[in-house]
Order: sequence, then C-alpha cells, then structure tokens
Amino acid sequence: MNETLKIAVQKSGRLYEGSMKLLKECGIEVSNGNNQLRVQAANFPVEIFFLRDDDIPEYVQDAVADIGFVGENVVYEKNKLVATLEKLGFGKCRLSLAIPKNGSLQKLADLNGQRIATSYPGILSNYLRVKNINASIHEISGSVEIAPRIGLADAICDLVSSGSTLFTNELKELETILQSEAVLISNNQLSTGKKIILESLLFRIRSVKKAKNNKYVLLNAPNDKLDTICNLLPGMRSPTILPLAESGWSSVHSVISEGDFWNIIEKLKTNGAQGILIIPIEKMII
Ligand code: ATP
Ligand code: ZN
Repeated sequence: MNETLKIAVQKSGRLYEGSMKLLKECGIEVSNGNNQLRVQAANFPVEIFFLRDDDIPEYVQDAVADIGFVGENVVYEKNKLVATLEKLGFGKCRLSLAIPKNGSLQKLADLNGQRIATSYPGILSNYLRVKNINASIHEISGSVEIAPRIGLADAICDLVSSGSTLFTNELKELETILQSEAVLISNNQLSTGKKIILESLLFRIRSVKKAKNNKYVLLNAPNDKLDTICNLLPGMRSPTILPLAESGWSSVHSVISEGDFWNIIEKLKTNGAQGILIIPIEKMII
C-alpha cells in the first residue's frame, strides 16, 4: 500500500516562505510553479495542499489534510480537535492588546466598558473573562490597527512582531496575551502508513531545528589548558581532540548551542583558546 501524507501549508502570506524552506531543508522537493492547489513531492511520499491559514485547523480535523503548518494563534482561536506535535521555529509573533498612545486608557482595568477590535474573538474573550474585564469585542477580519483611528473601537487585540505597525498607527502595547510561532498540527486518527511517514518527517524536522540551534566550534588550545577548555564545551558526547603539528598544542572540535554561544566563546578565549572557528551545522542527528 503506497500511502501519501497530505500536508496543508498557507498558500500565500507570512507562513508560506518558512513552510516551503523547512520542507526543502528536510530534503523534500516541491515545485509550486503555477499556483496550484496541490502538489506531489518528487522524492518523499507527501502531497502539499496550499490553503488559507485560517482553514488549516478545520481541514486537518476533518482529514482533508493529514497534517498542517499553521500559527499557534490560529490553532488556539479555531479550537479544533487536532494534535499539536512540534514547534517549527518560524512565524514568531505575539497576540497583544494595544491602546492609543496618548489616550485616556492606561491600564488593563481601563478596558472595562470599552470596545476592542480583533480578528481573535475566541482568545480575547477567554482572556478578558480570566482577567475579569467586561468589554465588548468587535470582530473584524483585517486592518485591525486602524479601528481606533476611525472610531470603530477604543483598543485592539492583534498580532505584533516588531511593533512597527502599532507605532505608525499611534498605538502602544498594553499586554501580551499569547506568544506564537508556526507549529505542526496533526489529525488524531492517522493510518499506520501515514504515521510512519509523519515520524520520518518529524525526524527530519527535528534534525533541521537542532542544527539551527547549534554551532560547530573548532579551536586550538595549549595542552596544559585542555582540561579547562574541554569542561567549557558540552558537545554531543565529549569534544574531539586532535594533536597539532606544533608540539604542545591540540585542535579541539565540539558543538555548542546558540544560547550559550557568546558566554562560552569569551570563556574559551580567556582560558587560552586561539584560532576559534564557528561553523553552521546543516543537519544534526543524535
Ligand atoms: P490568509 O490569507 O492565509 O488568511 P492572513 O492574512 O490571515 O492570510 P498572514 O498575515 O499571512 O495571514 O499571517 C499568517 C500567520 O503568520 C499569522 O497567523 C501568524 O501566525 C504569523 N505571523 C507572524 N508574524 C506576524 C505579524 N507580525 N502579523 C501577523 N501575523 C504574523
Ligand atoms: Zn488568515
């Protein structure tokens, strides 16, 4: 039985590029030349469906697609019966409450009795309930940021990444409701064949993510400092140590995580490491 896993991807918009790049990094060749609705990958048993992001949770719940790449914000808002399996590391943003920069509203409690415009009425109403705020929610599907200026609302609840849209509309962030990034969601009743393909895809995705979060480090160290330097390098197991042609020196190879990077590099230098090279890792299999 030759099964195919159907993957829903946003057809255009902020998640399209990241989704296609991830598939490519996983070695999956997809051409979306003629703006097709669906495309079969050339070298992996998956078929890509290009859809509006808002529809993806429902299509995955109803098994029109088996899995989907979509923002957590949409997953929470739509509240469909799907499983969230993996964060994908792109499409990062937050859902925030914002108020006019120089208006009379100052704090969360000031939203009592006010009108809030949003495309996320579900998430917002839950949030307001928990915070005990009694405001009216005006659902609009786009350009939420202009609502206060045209007198449609007193505040907004919208996605923010850099904050530049808020700034140009003379708004300021009041509270973050939700941090979001693209995630992989799955239908809850996949066949055994589809589960096997999904496992293989997840394995590739995790290898790509791990590689992005880590760097390969090469450095030269005097032999009498090797112990100290090796203790600074966690590595996958332990660092690789090779003798240099110059006696008394060794070359040390290891892997360090992006988060620890600057901290460790400085300590390596002060402990006598020289000629430090940092190299990106393409895939990382542990
Ligand atoms: P569609 O036509 O598919 O419905 P859309 O207009 O709803 O598109 P986009 O603006 O392309 O959607 O955003 C898609 C997703 O990208 C959002 O749901 C969110 O998860 C993510 N995203 C990341 N940064 C931002 C941002 N600054 N503003 C909006 N969305 C962002
Ligand atoms: Zn959308």
